[in-house]
Amino acid sequence: MTEPHFDANIDRSHMTVSDEVAIQIENMNKWYGQFHVLRDIDLTVQRGERIVIAGPSGSGKSTLIRCINRLEEHQAGKIVVDGIELTNDLKNIDKIRREVGMVFQHFNLFPHLTILENLTLAPIWVRKTPKKEAIETAMHFLEKVKIPEQADKYPGQLSGGQQQRVAIARSLCMKPRIMLFDEPTSALDPEMIKEVLDTMIELAEEGMTMLCVTHEMGFAQAVANRVIFMADGQIVEQNNPHDFFNNPQSERTKQFLSQIL
Ligand code: ADP
Ligand code: MG
Repeated sequence: MTEPHFDANIDRSHMTVSDEVAIQIENMNKWYGQFHVLRDIDLTVQRGERIVIAGPSGSGKSTLIRCINRLEEHQAGKIVVDGIELTNDLKNIDKIRREVGMVFQHFNLFPHLTILENLTLAPIWVRKTPKKEAIETAMHFLEKVKIPEQADKYPGQLSGGQQQRVAIARSLCMKPRIMLFDEPTSALDPEMIKEVLDTMIELAEEGMTMLCVTHEMGFAQAVANRVIFMADGQIVEQNNPHDFFNNPQSERTKQFLSQIL
């Protein structure tokens, strides 16, 4: 495992978790056709939690987080995000997409638009934000991810790490209350992983509720308040990072950890 350097003793005491529930998933099941991909998922996420989802390839991690912003539909059970139940109601789906930002392995930026245009497109056309305000917001978040000087370039002129930071800034421009990350550093060269993880750490420190699918166990140890381990479409085990890594309970978890650590 390539392990970027972290201050292993990051003080998490200021990263508070509130009593307020951000996401409630009850007895949720999902099938792709005949294939039962998610089984009896129960998960409550409090506002301010930083959750890392780990597990072998094909265990359903991406499917689970895609269900949380309704990129995928579930067939049984209940998902409630910020008090909004995810049903076929299009109005609800629209609301959820505003509340929940998502960052993917591949940055999915529009190659023919500048960085600034990538950041202002949805605010202007979907949110109907006045252009001047959208540009101000975009520049604010580009400064936050430390690349304001790239605003007028095109995605292809940026490094992978810079493009992923643009993708994070683009999500933040929609002012989400929850951020989902699906292996945001998996497509990056090792030297760029840290700059993206540092951006995510800053978000965590500001109290963003985050669910991150990642193989970066150093990040999990430094930032997560809870690690969830999935296998075969189920949540097999969950714990605080210290106990998860030092005292795994199930054989499945032990086997997984022995392969990656
Ligand atoms: P992970 O992110 O943990 O690697 P995924 O959620 O991507 O797992 O996939 C879980 C399982 O569902 C895998 O067996 C995968 O092949 C299958 N799967 C994923 N997406 C689809 C789809 N759109 N249609 C059918 N099967 C899918
Ligand atoms: Mg995946």
